[in-house]
Amino acid sequence: MDRFTDAAGFETLAIHAGQAPDPATGAVVPPIYQVSTYKQDGIGGLRGGYEYSRSANPTRTALEECLAAIEAGTRGLAFASGLAAEDTLLRTICKPGDHVLIPGDAYGGTYRLFAKVLERWGVAFDPVQLADIAAVRAAVRPETIAIWVETPTNPLLGIADIAALAQVAHAAGALLVVDNTFASPYLQQPLTLGADVVVHSTTKYLGGHSDVVGGALVVADPALGERLQFHQNAMGSICGPFDAWLTMRGIKTLGVRMDRHCANATAVAEMLVRHPRVAEVRYPGLPGHPGHDVAAKQMRAFGGMVSFRLTDGEDAAVRVCESTRLFILGESLGGVESLIEHPARMTHASASGSPLEVPADLVRLSVGIEDRDDLLQDLEQALS
Ligand SMILES: *Cc1c(COP(=O)(O)O)cnc(C)c1O
Repeated sequence: MDRFTDAAGFETLAIHAGQAPDPATGAVVPPIYQVSTYKQDGIGGLRGGYEYSRSANPTRTALEECLAAIEAGTRGLAFASGLAAEDTLLRTICKPGDHVLIPGDAYGGTYRLFAKVLERWGVAFDPVQLADIAAVRAAVRPETIAIWVETPTNPLLGIADIAALAQVAHAAGALLVVDNTFASPYLQQPLTLGADVVVHSTTKYLGGHSDVVGGALVVADPALGERLQFHQNAMGSICGPFDAWLTMRGIKTLGVRMDRHCANATAVAEMLVRHPRVAEVRYPGLPGHPGHDVAAKQMRAFGGMVSFRLTDGEDAAVRVCESTRLFILGESLGGVESLIEHPARMTHASASGSPLEVPADLVRLSVGIEDRDDLLQDLEQALS
């Protein structure tokens, strides 16, 4: 970070923050320090502070500094997965008796963590429609210690007003946590809008190539950063050096990839809106989307995820998912290749029967960065 001031632009930070050329060799990319322990020059004589790679590893440090820079935070921490990051955060900030508000259509794994794991440890939660600020304010209790935000949400692509929710949280003495996985820091920087913690599944847009699973936390407050770092070491669900290296490699091209994801997704959404077999398109870039104005205010562009509902119900949705040739039928999102899936039977099957159940005629697209016309043609043939 030393070579950069706060004034450096996003793409510059994405390529250089935390990644000065290696002092020993001049290597322009941080090496993969595939090592568990470090020689001490006399007891406690650490070189650069490294003693054991659960506590810190130079490749992971490079990624963590880069993450802090691109999210405009003071501290970044890298984990084995997005859910490992979430678990570490929640066990750092929650104690028995505490209460957290979560999105009415939270990511299924986040919901499962609250419903099946944390509830047994005495942490209560309530799903709430985050687009409705009055409803959020009414759902806050004296025990509420955090409001957990996703925007855009998965898979319904709802939008929440981060700055407004930060005010509600802070008035209640609670933290505002934003899962920024869907937008990525290139499109939206929650800490600059008043959030206290940013969560990522770096598996998605940050990694960007469907070749690594990882997670991250970034915070504004250095004291909270210290507590999280203590728990990261105490709990141990860290990002390994090779995964850190792959994630850094992905982040370098985040800006150019997101520009293309957004352009392709816009073209796909506009094509779907006009299609007679499509009943509804959910994309925050469409002027008719209920969160369009808020999204335009807090995002640079509208992202690469598009969901739509079929006029002919669940069977038609399943047929479309099984008929594309270029869009690959699969879970996950945010990679360079386009993916298609049926949330009710795939990513969100575990939400069936819960308040987070998703419509059965819904199809979710992660629009990749392939040739736009090829993508449009593939969807046309799958819909016909
Ligand atoms: C995938 C995802 C997660 C979980 O991340 P993993 O890396 O799969 O553990 C959390 N939040 C959102 C929005 C996601 O899409």
